[in-house]
Amino acid sequence: MRLFTRSRVLGGLVAAGALSVAVAGQQPAQRATLPTSLEKVKDNLYIIGKSSPVDRSQFTGGNVGVFVTDGGVVVVDTKLAGYGPGIIELVKTVTNKPITTIINTHTHGDHTGSNEGFPANVEIVAHENTKTNMMKMDAFKGEKAQFLPKKTYKDKLTLGTGKDRVDLYYFGAGHTNGDTFIVYPALRVLQAGDMFAWKDAPLYDRNNGGSGVEHPKSFAKLVATIKDVDTVIPGHSPVTTFKDLEEYGRYTADLLAATEVAMKAGKSADDAAASIDLSAKYPGYKNERVKAAVAAIYDELAKK
Ligand SMILES: [Zn+2]
Repeated sequence: MRLFTRSRVLGGLVAAGALSVAVAGQQPAQRATLPTSLEKVKDNLYIIGKSSPVDRSQFTGGNVGVFVTDGGVVVVDTKLAGYGPGIIELVKTVTNKPITTIINTHTHGDHTGSNEGFPANVEIVAHENTKTNMMKMDAFKGEKAQFLPKKTYKDKLTLGTGKDRVDLYYFGAGHTNGDTFIVYPALRVLQAGDMFAWKDAPLYDRNNGGSGVEHPKSFAKLVATIKDVDTVIPGHSPVTTFKDLEEYGRYTADLLAATEVAMKAGKSADDAAASIDLSAKYPGYKNERVKAAVAAIYDELAKK
């Protein structure tokens, strides 16, 4: 299978779980509508939801953060293609300040798809590996290369000052090899992207450097570094607590440990996945994505 096709398939999985591949690269004929209003997280920080991929008919892409600062608006992630004008309209309902900055938490099309829907003078920021990954996407080739990130960083980047400060952190691989955690220090809020997308097994995008082995380590670094956050915006589920994010870090470590045990016992990836059920220890967690995550970890461990 050509690499091109494979990455398309993966993009579809990312967005949907079982999305028809044909839709992934083009404007869906019937696009779900955005929420009719912004959802306030705290003070001058909002999100645009309808981000759960479970109901395809309502899915618009990952949670978008909207942070209104004195100097302009920072938009974190841009959903699937075609939502730029809608996001801009929603921002106008809370401020007349211009959108000055887009941060892409990672490469996937449900987080970068509408970059092209914003004015060309908006500064686009991402981790350096995410820029590299985005350069491989059809959506950013040719003319559209102008919507790639221009500002990148390696470990940490701070934008703005005082109450308008935004800190971008890279703690290592997980969902991909370029996921940014965004901290709004004045509000004690962290936006996690798909490093913490939902309460189910993570999606490990091996083609973009995703790693189930590194994911728990990345969370350990986060927990050791980030001290003053109480509220978390996940990638594809409702706003929650920092405690929930810490719990998710432990979940990824337990998932990895259980997978390693099964592999050492000689189980196939499918048998391993069938035998792993962490839902008793993690109430409210689903098992719908365990099979794919275990297969990705098997693939990774086999290559070590
Ligand atoms: Zn993703």
